[in-house]
Amino acid sequence: MHCLNVELGERSYPIVIGSQLLGDPQHLLPYIRGKQVCVVTNETVAPLYLERLLEGLSGFDKVDTIALPDGEAFKTLDTVNRIFDLLLEQRHNRSTTLVALGGGVIGDMAGFAAACYQRGVDFVQIPTTLLAQVDSSVGGKTGVNHPLGKNMIGAFYQPRVVLADMNTLQTLPERELSAGIAEVIKYGLICDAPFFDWLESNMSRLLERDPQALAYAVDRCCRDKAAVVAEDERESGRRAILNFGHTFGHAIEAVQGYGSWLHGEAVAAGMVMAAELSRLRGSIDTELVARIRDLLSTARLPLVAPDDMTVQQFLDAMAVDKKVMDGRLRLVLLRALGDAQIVDDTPPELLAEALENCGA
Ligand code: NAD
Ligand code: MG
Repeated sequence: MHCLNVELGERSYPIVIGSQLLGDPQHLLPYIRGKQVCVVTNETVAPLYLERLLEGLSGFDKVDTIALPDGEAFKTLDTVNRIFDLLLEQRHNRSTTLVALGGGVIGDMAGFAAACYQRGVDFVQIPTTLLAQVDSSVGGKTGVNHPLGKNMIGAFYQPRVVLADMNTLQTLPERELSAGIAEVIKYGLICDAPFFDWLESNMSRLLERDPQALAYAVDRCCRDKAAVVAEDERESGRRAILNFGHTFGHAIEAVQGYGSWLHGEAVAAGMVMAAELSRLRGSIDTELVARIRDLLSTARLPLVAPDDMTVQQFLDAMAVDKKVMDGRLRLVLLRALGDAQIVDDTPPELLAEALENCGA
């Protein structure tokens, strides 16, 4: 079992990483202050893990559960309102604790509900996808989608504790596992070169879901993200490096329609594009770009743009991305392996060339 602390002053909290954590109440109970608990999960995860979690909560006066419909399409205010309905109908008071059991969609919604219910109640995260374990459960961003934009309604709200149980990853669909690995590789690229080397030697263990290898990778990513977030909790500067590959990836998701490419898949192709652009700017060499491609390809991730997507479509979609400030496109590029920088002076011809080199 590993444990690390996300250092955010009085909002600091631990992340516990291990196996068989779900059925073991000692990891959860110290963080639940009141007598009421509401578990927020979805219809896919509930049959797999809810019973085990509830066994550990049997000592509480009141434990309610809500299993929401599965999918990004349900990450809405309407769905969050269903959580409020239950909490009010069942008379949950200000000392209740919401427990999120599921992937990033559930974590983001339960966290947002916790931030809003009676102006803020305690919240615990039990992320069950690799992506949620290495990304969405660290850093305190919570929220929902609006018809006019993804993640546009939300709050910064930190959990009391995060429990990342490697056992839950055994049932994750293969594509979801790979999509999570894309974000794992991202940390090596932006801030942790030794971890990138480790991933090159251990990718097959991750793909085989070796619990020790998974726990090592989750621990490392959470440390990396926690360090970046501790420096810049509300994304006024350096936190933006976590968006490496994402501006390109968001363009793919937006043009393809959300859902056809998984987020991590789009980020994978986006990271190749960002690496290629970094090379064209003279920051990194061909050899490093090849290493990045090889590692992503071993992880069964896409390396090039969708078949039918043009350079112009990329440029148009990237122009509306929220990272554009004062009319300048801000991109996260690499200065070297493990060293990301934010630039806003990319010549448009170079951007187009990088996209063409990546199949656009
Ligand atoms: P998800 O929550 O939709 O989960 C993916 C799929 O796996 C779903 O069908 C889910 O039901 C299923 N699933 C979850 N755990 C499972 C398990 N153990 N076994 C089998 N199936 C399981 O997607 P995700 O990739 O976890 O998260 C994506 C969401 O996270 C997006 O909404 C994104 O905006 C958000 N996100 C938030 C942050 C943040 O900082 N808050 C960061 C990154 C992503
Ligand atoms: Mg991401």
